[in-house]
Parts: sequence; C-alpha cells; structure tokens
Amino acid sequence: MATKEKTPVENAQLKDIISHAKEYGFVFPSSEIYDGLQAVYDYGQMGVELKNNLKNLWWKSMTQLHQNVVGIDAAIFMHPHTWKASGHVDSFNDPMIDNKDSKKRYRADVLIEEKAAQYEADGHYDKASELLVEMGRLLGAEELDAVRELIIREDIKCPISGTTNWTEVRQFNLMFSTQVGSVAEDSSTIYLRPETAQGIFVNFLNVQKTGRMKVPFGIAQIGKAFRNEIVARQFIFRMREFEQMEMQFFVRPGTEMEWYNQWKEARKKWHQAIGIPAESLRYHDHEKLAHYANAAVDIEFKFPFGFKEVEGIHSRTDFDLTQHQELSRKKMQYFDNDLNEDGKPYGNYIPYVVETSVGADRLFLMTLCSAYTEEEITEGDATKSRTFLKFHPALAPVKAAILPLTKKDGLPEKATEIFNSLRYDFNMIYEERDSIGKRYTRQDLIGTPFCIAVDHQTLEDNTVTVRDRDSREQVRMPIGELHSYIDKAVNFKSIFEKLA
Ligand code: ATP
Repeated sequence: MATKEKTPVENAQLKDIISHAKEYGFVFPSSEIYDGLQAVYDYGQMGVELKNNLKNLWWKSMTQLHQNVVGIDAAIFMHPHTWKASGHVDSFNDPMIDNKDSKKRYRADVLIEEKAAQYEADGHYDKASELLVEMGRLLGAEELDAVRELIIREDIKCPISGTTNWTEVRQFNLMFSTQVGSVAEDSSTIYLRPETAQGIFVNFLNVQKTGRMKVPFGIAQIGKAFRNEIVARQFIFRMREFEQMEMQFFVRPGTEMEWYNQWKEARKKWHQAIGIPAESLRYHDHEKLAHYANAAVDIEFKFPFGFKEVEGIHSRTDFDLTQHQELSRKKMQYFDNDLNEDGKPYGNYIPYVVETSVGADRLFLMTLCSAYTEEEITEGDATKSRTFLKFHPALAPVKAAILPLTKKDGLPEKATEIFNSLRYDFNMIYEERDSIGKRYTRQDLIGTPFCIAVDHQTLEDNTVTVRDRDSREQVRMPIGELHSYIDKAVNFKSIFEKLA
C-alpha cells in the first residue's frame, strides 16, 4: 500500500513535533518496517501513558463527577441495520474532488473551508461567511456540479500543481465493511463502526432500565472508530482508525438547547482545566448541519496548521432513537413521571439527545502541541536551547524520576528504597546511567515534572533535591514529604476542582 504522501501544508513546527513524538516513544507510524500504513499510527511507551491519562481523566470527569452519567463499552461490530437507521449507509459521505494535473485527491468541502479561512485571515469576514453558507446550501441539496463551479469561481488551486484543473465532485462513503461468517454464502456485510455513538443509542433502554436512570441522564463511552478518510494528512489529526470519547445526554424534548449550551461551556472549560490556554481555543458554529442535528458547534484548537476541530457538541434531536424504533420495531420511549405545569406527568416520549464527542487522538495531539516548548537558557556564560514537554503534571506519562548522583557509596540502594516506597502510587523511572545533567534533559524531553536526585547528603539527613521541569529550580526536602509533594501536583483532583 502506498504510504509516503507529501504534505505541503505541514509547517516546520508540526514536523518537529512529529519527529519528537517518534524519537521519544510517543507515536510511531503503523507497521513501519513495511514503510507504514497511511493514516494509521501506533502509540509507544510514552504515548500510551499520556493517552491513558487523557482517557481516564475524561472518563472520571464524565462518570465520577456527574451522578447522572454512567459508562458502557459496546462492541465495534453492530447489526448492519444500525447503520441503515443512523443514516450512515446512505449519507455518511464526503465530497471528493481530484486535481487532474497533480492527480491529488481532496475533500471539496475542505478546499472551500480553507478558502473561507483565508478570507477571514484577510479581514473579509462577510465574504468568508457567505462562502460557507453557500457551500452548506449546495452540499445539503447534493448539487455537486455547483460545488465544483464554486471551487472554480473562487479560483481555488491545487496546492501541488497550482492549477484549477478539477474533476467533477463525487460522494464517497467513509465506512469500512467486512464479512462475518466463515462460509462465503452465509456471510453478510457488516461495518466497522464509524462512530461510537450508535452503541449508546441501541443500549439506551438497557441502561435506563437496569440503572433506574431518570431523564436527564447521560451514557459515556470510549472506543475505536474507523473511517476511510479521503485525505489523511496531518499526522494523528486525521486517521483511518482512531478513538472517540462520546457522551450522549438524554433530555426532555424542548430542553435540549439549555443542555446544549451547558455542555458547550462545560467542555471548553475542561480543555482549559487540562492546561490549554484560552486563547488557543475557540468555538466554531456549524454552517452545514448534519442530517440529525438542530444545533452543532466545534471546539477548535490552534494547531500548528491552524484552528481545527478537537471536539463536537451536537444537539441530535430524537433522530437516532426514532430511527432505531422504526427499523427495530422496538419502542424507544421513556416514561417521565415528573409533573408538568398542569400538574400531570410528562408521560411517554422519545428523549432528545445532546452529544459531546471528542477524539482521543486529537486531544493527544493538542496536548502534545501545547506542551512542546523550546526556550533559550543561560548557564554561566553560555546560552543554549532547551526542548521540553510542559504537560500538566496529572497528564505527564512519568511523574517522577529517581536519580542517584553516582553509582556507588550506597546511593543506588538508597534511591531504590525511595523508588520502591513511591512506585505503588506513581508511574516512575529509576535511572543511574550518564551525568545528572543528561538525565535531567532526558526527562525534560518526555515531560517528567519532577526529578529527584539522591546524593551524599541524603545518606546523612534523609533529604533529596527535587528539580522542577518548568523552572529548573531545585528544592531540598525530607524524603517523607515526597509523596504528598508529588501527589498534590499529579492528582486529577487539581483538575476536577477547576471544573466544579
Ligand atoms: P472532521 O470534520 O474533522 O472530519 P467530524 O466533524 O467528521 O470531523 P465528528 O464526526 O464530529 O468529526 O467526530 C467527533 C470527533 O472525533 C472529532 O471532533 C474528532 O476529534 C474525532 N475524529 C473524527 N474523525 C477523526 C479522524 N479521522 N481521526 C482522528 N479523530 C477523528
């Protein structure tokens, strides 16, 4: 399979981040010994820790901090009718277009969105929004010829060939399919789920009944999703196999906008609480609403390649549950015995749904981009540059490194003793190779917030030095204080308190 696609829009900083991610064990190209598989990546020894921390934090923020949100873990394979009901079989398409000169394939909507972003950057806000509205109208009406004309009228050129020699626009379904059953005749086509949400919808009544849940309530899920993306560039931003963290919040019809606004705010606050600066985040309202939505907004992060979606908040109405009710012929209704203004129970209805949907991989990339720091430092008379990953300590893959100053005089034994006393609570590294300076640098490069040095004074008075990753300052403290010092910084509690 072809793998080496040129990435003309990538800028230098993204390249630095990609090579850093590879060099320090965060992200590797999939099956790299065979030259990789396009838009598929593996997480390495550091990456998996960071990703797990992000997932755990999201999971706990949803389920532990909300009495009315519970989790599930549904299978990737689902009955094929699921995707008929959800609309994915008929309309989970992206409009694709090829440049005849470069032979490169693009998403027509992305080309137009990039043009609008350029208008915006030049201060032509009206032009930008008119263009997006027009695109939304044409795509909604499936007027694909007119979409092509719009691209030509706007003089949108292929970034590789620089020409406007475009093919017609065609729809391309993004679902991967495969066969179940061992005998060819018996087998039937099923899909790899393109979103985790449907696993929640089909379990809505199971959870509601067995958990005795009362509307409003939510169901959260983390899991893999698969999309045969037309253009897969920009590292782990757009992958063909990725992970979603979705929460469907079931509400009484008519109250959905209230909940939509509430979740929209709560989710942006969450990104800020994990250390993403407010100025690197923004909302982007959808001009083109998906077939199931009556309101939708993206939370965008300022990636090195521009502001792009990390999370979507969608008001999905009762579309999905109604569709499943129709296709499965099973009632999807909920009985609400709360009393309305007339003193009567609200009675039976199909709940409306507000969804929050964030990609674990995009969240990972955002965290990595935001943490990646290069700075000039002065040591004595010399100035040198330092690269480090400024992760929130609660997200850092390794929380502390225990470093005996030398390999003799009983220092390794003392350091091992400290390591053993902390290892049950924190992910740590013990290292005795190379100079202490080199060891500090290695920890900076993977974002370890604390380096604990064990020296000769430790043997005398049971104190160690603790070096802070960001300030490089060292403080001396009794070994007995280490646990609470580290815990205070790395405990999720410090993030949860900001969400209250
Ligand atoms: P885009 O417009 O970028 O294709 P989308 O609007 O199709 O994204 P949703 O269907 O709303 O995305 O999916 C919810 C979230 O899942 C996105 O905000 C994103 O974080 C993540 N996601 C979607 N597609 C991919 C992908 N191909 N690779 C990585 N993450 C993805």
